[in-house]
Amino acid sequence: MKKRSIAFELLIFNDVRDMEQEDQMLLEQADIAQKGSYSPYSNFRVGAAILLKDGTVIQGSNQENASFPAGLCAERVALFYAGANFPNQTIKTIAISAAAAKVEVKKPAGPCGSCRQAILEYEVKQNSPITILMKGQSGPIYKCGSIADLLPLSFDHTFLGDS
Ligand SMILES: [Zn+2]
Repeated sequence: MKKRSIAFELLIFNDVRDMEQEDQMLLEQADIAQKGSYSPYSNFRVGAAILLKDGTVIQGSNQENASFPAGLCAERVALFYAGANFPNQTIKTIAISAAAAKVEVKKPAGPCGSCRQAILEYEVKQNSPITILMKGQSGPIYKCGSIADLLPLSFDHTFLGDS
């Protein structure tokens, strides 16, 4: 038997002003994107902002549905828009900002498993890492250099016989 530890580097900022200007800008765009959230069932608003290599910023927010599984997370709303409209652009960073109506979100909300898988697809496709920024309404801000860090032992196209 072998034992292997999997670790990754997570940067934790207590103040957004300690972050790079570009990251601050994108987190602000994610906050603004929350305004488009349609979340009458969970009252949990999520905004996502994607920065493309050419400087374009794309916003998304969670879109819920009375038939719950028909809704979609903010990250994938933004991601699929980027994929559909800027298919040849490299995605540099995705910022995620979460807020709840009943309780304050005091820690960064990480992307759900499905969104991690969806972001990974684009990271593999473009062959360069996508930085993930995460924040709540208060508390620290997390910065992670690659979605692969948040999805170890992941499934990608190489399993489908297409290396
Ligand atoms: Zn998600």
